[in-house]
Amino acid sequence: MIGRSIAAVCGLLIAVCWAERASAQTALFEVARLIPGDGGAALENAAILVETGRIARIGRKGEIALPNGAARVDLGDKTVMPALISSHVHPGFQMGLGYFAKNFTHENIVDDLNRALYFGISTVMSQGIERGDIMFEVRAEQAAGRLGGARLMLSGRGLGAPNAGPGNAIYANFAYSVTTEDEVRRAVREQAARTVDGFKIWVDDRGGRAPKLPLALSRAAIEESHKHGLRISAHIFYHDDAMELAAAGIDSFAHLVRDREMSDELIALMRKNNVYVMPNISSPERNTHASPPPWLDEPSLAGLLRDTVSADVIERLRGVFARRDPAVAERARKSYEILKRSVAKLSAAGAHIILGSDTGLEDHFFGYAEQKELELMVAAGMTPSQAIVAATNRAAAYLRLPDRGTLSPGKRADFLVLDGNPLDNIRNTRRIARMYLVGVEVDRPALKAALLRRARN
Ligand SMILES: [Zn+2]
Repeated sequence: MIGRSIAAVCGLLIAVCWAERASAQTALFEVARLIPGDGGAALENAAILVETGRIARIGRKGEIALPNGAARVDLGDKTVMPALISSHVHPGFQMGLGYFAKNFTHENIVDDLNRALYFGISTVMSQGIERGDIMFEVRAEQAAGRLGGARLMLSGRGLGAPNAGPGNAIYANFAYSVTTEDEVRRAVREQAARTVDGFKIWVDDRGGRAPKLPLALSRAAIEESHKHGLRISAHIFYHDDAMELAAAGIDSFAHLVRDREMSDELIALMRKNNVYVMPNISSPERNTHASPPPWLDEPSLAGLLRDTVSADVIERLRGVFARRDPAVAERARKSYEILKRSVAKLSAAGAHIILGSDTGLEDHFFGYAEQKELELMVAAGMTPSQAIVAATNRAAAYLRLPDRGTLSPGKRADFLVLDGNPLDNIRNTRRIARMYLVGVEVDRPALKAALLRRARN
């Protein structure tokens, strides 16, 4: 294959295949602080006993005796928290400076999953825009232990009304374009037969240029998805649609409402009907700046980005801000303020916010988008603890992953070892000293080397 370096690909395979095989060894980790991920208090001077990749016990240092033959791993003054789970991604479209449908290849998708892993993400849920067999192949290879990266979950192609599906022209024909209930049910059945992990619909008129998916068709998609045991997520824009979909039994909103602040009535309905929501504020936030924003130069985030994408991509990202018309940025700030207020209201009301950042839009890089999203969730009014729960325990609950999301007995030993306490400053989730998946340390230096080799090709 053109431009494909065998060495680079092998480097990736070694780094991450290894990480996804559960450690056979019993190990006792000791660490200054453990954040469980369920919103409970951090445990100081913690000990974690890991057996065959799972957490067997958690206690205080000295409380758990070192079993015969077990390794003791002293993590010193670090903080441990569950690996992140991201519920709204679109891998495979960006390769270097190019953002095209033709980039949707096996190796480019794997690169994105490796980027996510490097930033501390164990699991990602693709929210539709999936064509052909590639994503299913990647998922199967991961399940078989032949391929690494953040674990990929799928929503399949997804569906919308004609021209009212996924927003970018390069996504044309990725999603089903439907006009009848019969087509909707057939689409869901077809994807369910392929064992997708969820389903996705787009309910939007794209600023008036397209017909919106009628409520009757949304209802059919919801009913058919539930019949097949699938959670269904809706791309929404308008408050009125959100009200109708929440009442109709949708499982999650893939975005906030964008035409106005979310009302108390809607939020109450979401709570009553258990509707989860992915804020995705990090993408619109980019438009609010007419000069390079502070987060671009935050050392930890900037460092992770340099480790995973090429310099020309970062340069372009910087240039976009400098070139933006201040009046356009001002308008974007006004819209963004509405989103922030909705996040604050949702959080205060105890709505089910989960980490989603529409990762994989152009220059909205894997891992980077999620880490930025966490910071913005806190800036919008969530506590660091609430943001962490959204990115761990609650995301796992939404995605029905009972084996991960918290650090507690029985769960996979998937955790980040951080140089700072993210409960003090959420940006500390980026200061990743080490990462473990199923009890095995991820070889992050190898991952970085492989991603940079690929970025230079
Ligand atoms: Zn999306």
